Amino acid sequence: MKDSNFLKENNARHVWHPMAHPADSQTNLPTILTEARDVRITDVNGHEVIDAVGGLWNVNLGYSCEPVKQAIRDQLDALPYYSLFRGTTNDKAIELSYELAQFFAPDGLSRAFFTSGGSDSVEVALKLARQYHRIRGEASRTKFISLKKGYHGTHFGGASVNGNAKFRNAYEPLMPGCFHIPAPHTYRNPFNESDPEKLARLCAAALKDEIAFQGANTIAAFIMEPVLGAGGVMPPHPSFMPLVREICSKNGILLISDEVITAFGRTGSESGARHWGVKPDLMCTAKAITNGYFPFGAVMIADHVADVFEADRTGTASVDTGYTYSGHPVGAAAALAALAEIKAQKVHENAAERGKQLLGGLKGLQERFEVIGDVRGEGLMCALELVSDRTTKDPVGKDIPMKLQQAAYEDGVMVRVSGNNVIFSPPLVVTEDHVAKILSATETGLSAL
Ligand code: PLP
Repeated sequence: MKDSNFLKENNARHVWHPMAHPADSQTNLPTILTEARDVRITDVNGHEVIDAVGGLWNVNLGYSCEPVKQAIRDQLDALPYYSLFRGTTNDKAIELSYELAQFFAPDGLSRAFFTSGGSDSVEVALKLARQYHRIRGEASRTKFISLKKGYHGTHFGGASVNGNAKFRNAYEPLMPGCFHIPAPHTYRNPFNESDPEKLARLCAAALKDEIAFQGANTIAAFIMEPVLGAGGVMPPHPSFMPLVREICSKNGILLISDEVITAFGRTGSESGARHWGVKPDLMCTAKAITNGYFPFGAVMIADHVADVFEADRTGTASVDTGYTYSGHPVGAAAALAALAEIKAQKVHENAAERGKQLLGGLKGLQERFEVIGDVRGEGLMCALELVSDRTTKDPVGKDIPMKLQQAAYEDGVMVRVSGNNVIFSPPLVVTEDHVAKILSATETGLSAL
């Protein structure tokens, strides 16, 4: 390994980081990670901490998942690459499609279209939604509706349905025909409604209203995260997604469940849609599908949507999109091994249990630290929202969460900062002791403010 000075200097000189000002890394040195094991990461200075970020919501089985590593090694020896384009495929992609169809059978999803990551999955889902209507003779259905505060990746389609100005403004004009409704976020919403159930009804009514305004026959799909993630972890009331499902069905609109974070156990259920008792028409997955060890994703397709494509004899159903790495055999092998572990370890059950511990602990901290305006969570996705004044809910300045993060890191835990939110998304295999340590380091961070 090059020495730490070389790494720091050249990172500042040559690397542009996602979601950051290019000059930032010159003054604000990023933590350089060099090693990891179980749920811990080690930086270039040899400092080891629990990774309460779980990579980027993706290393659900931790860093020492030997079956996934071995599957990658073996596959590199057997068949390091072959595509799924026209007339070829590979054994691992086929086996994975079979396993995914079993895993997502309770969600009504049986076909897989493979991608190289979350943004790719979103793009494919949006395209398939439009094409589905076109095949059925409703080519006027081209628009999309989504939630404000939602995050759907960074490609132009995904950015267009994104509900956070930060990821949109620099790249406008985005795709026309994308509209947003208020998110069921109890802490901040335009209705000033703090009752989650009432708020769910108000947001559902806003969806109905927008559909009526646009004309149902112009709308292809509604896309949502079952629990808003990157926007700051905002679990809706359990009635929200079922209400959305009902409205979409009544209006012939497809429901795309963007489960790039929530699929495979993070909410405490095998999928986010299942968590809320909903069957989506399309589901976007990525991240934990390979435990983060290989870039990979899959769009899962409901039977009744697939039937429309497969029954078409006019030629309009040719899926004319895809990626060089769609169904990459190494990614597929990694995903097969990860899926086997996810099922064998029932990680969603641990996520539910440890999620309760984490959320309960964070709520306890809220009672002691004025700076915590709101605490939210579902399974192992939790957030603290920091405010300078609980009455006005004014967000704290940028430096406050960074200071908390730094102190927690020194005390042995990596947490993530997003605006005035501190986000927790640890591997789903964390133990009671790991969560206790995450809480105590967070307390250290809060005490440092
Ligand atoms: N959709 C959701 C809900 C996400 O959280 C993310 C990433 O965090 C994406 C899409 C984009 O995924 P990727 O970064 O793999 O392109």
